[in-house]
Amino acid sequence: MHEDDLYRRWMKLVENLERGRIIKDTRVKRAFLRVPRYKFVSDRYKEYAHVDEPLPIPAGQTISAPHMVAIMLELAELDEGMNALEVGAGSGWNAALIYELVKKEVYTIERIPELVEFANRNLEQAGYRNKVHVILGDGTKGFPPKAPYDRIIVTAGAPKVPEPLIEQLKVGGKLLIPVGGYHLWQELLEVIKINEDNKVKVKNHGGVAFVPLVGEYGWRG
Ligand code: SAM
Repeated sequence: MHEDDLYRRWMKLVENLERGRIIKDTRVKRAFLRVPRYKFVSDRYKEYAHVDEPLPIPAGQTISAPHMVAIMLELAELDEGMNALEVGAGSGWNAALIYELVKKEVYTIERIPELVEFANRNLEQAGYRNKVHVILGDGTKGFPPKAPYDRIIVTAGAPKVPEPLIEQLKVGGKLLIPVGGYHLWQELLEVIKINEDNKVKVKNHGGVAFVPLVGEYGWRG
């Protein structure tokens, strides 16, 4: 399918998400329009990139459904200049969206080498080389070299909130993370750090379905 057609379909999806009040913030809408999902999936899935469902990416993982990504970015309340970390790079799509909101280098961690390569290839082709850095590693341990963070967005489901991620948040900083069962049933938690002793305030945003967060402070692989 021609890129013009892919983009036309993508615009329609973004308008539907806005009409459905999933996208409310015009900055989130602008980011979605700048970073279409078809640039972050393999050729065979490009024609489905505008469908509001998760799609397969290599290594048995998924690129999340657009509405889910929009919900998390709305809750994240990202602003220009914020220091943001993503855990679970996958295709690199969400990290590129985060970059468009903070306009500052973004770090994203991925545990599967094949996906680090996939994300880097997508990001480079979409123009995000030197803007988004994909790090191979266990994101349940965060990424201390760039901490503390204003925002941490985890895109895989954890059994509990990993302590290192709270430690690496600034006071007043926010972590978004699905927490719950091993496969495809979690609750989306918004965790705000309220003091230097790692005390947090937690808000539950209801049921979500993510692949498991596998690591030292997540599920054991
Ligand atoms: N954010 C991604 C995107 O925009 O395409 C989608 C992420 S996918 C739903 C979840 C990803 O988290 C998978 O690529 C998986 O390999 C990764 N993952 C799981 N456990 C991880 C860990 N401990 N550290 C880093 N990545 C992890």
